Amino acid sequence: MHNIITREDAQDRELTYYYTGEPCKRGHTDYRYVVNRRCVQCTRERDSKRSRSVFNTIQPSNVRQRAAAIEHQRELTQIEQEYRL
Ligand SMILES: [Zn+2]
Repeated sequence: MHNIITREDAQDRELTYYYTGEPCKRGHTDYRYVVNRRCVQCTRERDSKRSRSVFNTIQPSNVRQRAAAIEHQRELTQIEQEYRL
């Protein structure tokens, strides 16, 4: 069990996180950032998706490779939605 810390309390104490015990819109009951009210778990998942993106390694001029990358990314998204990863 976590201790409940309201956002106001966390702000007063200059904490980075607060904790309400309420699930976020995606069902995590985790700490949330004071600055943007985002759930830590959501942020972590979004960041791991971004780092897995293949776009960064591809030159825009290579259209065929880029198209393949977009297709790959779409498949990943589909898989994630199906299995709710
Ligand atoms: Zn969340």
